[in-house]
Amino acid sequence: MTLPALPEESFQRVLCVVAHPDDMEYGTSAAVARWTARGIEVGYLLLTPGEAGMPNPPQETARLRVAEQQAACAVVGVKHLTVLEHPDGVLVYGLDLRRDICREIRRFKPDVVLGTGYEIETPYGFDQADHRAARLATLDAVRDAGNRWVFPEQVDDEDLQPHSVRWFIVPGLAGSATHGVEVTGERCSAVSPRSRRTPRTWPRSRTTPPPRTSSRSSRGPRTLLTGSYVKDGSAGRQGRG
Ligand SMILES: [Zn+2]
Repeated sequence: MTLPALPEESFQRVLCVVAHPDDMEYGTSAAVARWTARGIEVGYLLLTPGEAGMPNPPQETARLRVAEQQAACAVVGVKHLTVLEHPDGVLVYGLDLRRDICREIRRFKPDVVLGTGYEIETPYGFDQADHRAARLATLDAVRDAGNRWVFPEQVDDEDLQPHSVRWFIVPGLAGSATHGVEVTGERCSAVSPRSRRTPRTWPRSRTTPPPRTSSRSSRGPRTLLTGSYVKDGSAGRQGRG
């Protein structure tokens, strides 16, 4: 299958919003490696620390999975990792979730937001409730972020500005993708393990915003992609999610 290439030359900052540690590693991070290698700034926003994903005590699991995520970010060149403290396994779609995602969009100021795929039934089984909540909240938060009167306290009290996202991208399975990212032959990291810098994990109350960019649009976001196409078709999700 040949898909039109995603016009990655048209964006400079990408914020990826997922429910759990390792959600990005089921295929999509291959595209991230390509983007960061080309100078595109990529940030990850994890809505939960993934504490319910293993039989271990939740705090131990959260520490382990966040550490794994930090290491995974280092491999693909992601320097901005934010992990929120919404509860794993019972993530709730609602204003709290939209507000937190909106805040991160206004902080990071991406021109692209990458969300979670739309499929409810996948080749690996039914998708998780957390993923469904994350995808809907992210889609809504993209619109929220550009509206000064939605979550206005972020503008009035948190020194943030409305931010309009240009593109909304969702990874999908090969059959439903409209655009692709060619990752064959991409090297995941040009740095040795010894010199990798582990990205900092920001607490929920962090106050230092990342650098701002000037991209701004008065138009609503467009859905550019329904697939972060991976040549071997592995852009799905399974396992502990
Ligand atoms: Zn997951």
